[in-house]
Amino acid sequence: MKNICVFCSASNGLDESYYTEAEKMGELIAKNGFNLVYGGSSLGIMGRISKAAKENGAKIIGVIPEKLSELCKHSDSNIYDEYHVTKDMRERKAKMDELSDGLIVLPGGFGTLEEVSEMIVQKILGYNNKPIVFLNTNHFYDNLFEFFEQIILEKFAQTRASYYYYLAQTPEEVIGYLKNYIPNELPKTLDDIYVKN
Ligand code: AMP
Repeated sequence: MKNICVFCSASNGLDESYYTEAEKMGELIAKNGFNLVYGGSSLGIMGRISKAAKENGAKIIGVIPEKLSELCKHSDSNIYDEYHVTKDMRERKAKMDELSDGLIVLPGGFGTLEEVSEMIVQKILGYNNKPIVFLNTNHFYDNLFEFFEQIILEKFAQTRASYYYYLAQTPEEVIGYLKNYIPNELPKTLDDIYVKN
């Protein structure tokens, strides 16, 4: 596993603790020999994690749709080792997926939620088998994981879906999960995907 994709907030108005933990995550990504694939902007957590990863030696790969690329270039444009501009948001997600071997989800808003939801569904349907790990800074994802449990409890998804994502409490735990990740078996029949009545 080499390239780690990060989905996270583009907001600059968060409590400082979200940024400092993201910087720690960026540092550990680099120090553990991973490259960073991310949304190609200096905004919010994206900016802070990419800067920290770069300073600690990671290769930085930005992937951004045309429309945002002019608006959101990283304030330090030397940060990129690779910079991919895509036609639109959908093409961007596909490119990020193609370039990465695993996914870290830091706290984020609707953009982050949209991106990770697609990756979870891809895994449920067997299109990929990469690790998906959330970093629970300030317990940000407690409510979402309660909702995930409800989805499974009420049989909107199979129990096995709960193995497709992991909630880590610290950046160190995120790295441990990525390094020890054992891919799930891909679904072979519809019964492996949907709950039977
Ligand atoms: P959000 O969680 O709503 O702040 O959205 C952040 C996520 O959506 C990131 O993982 C990015 O891939 C994408 N995104 C949203 N806004 C931007 C932006 N201005 N520049 C680059 N990527 C963005």
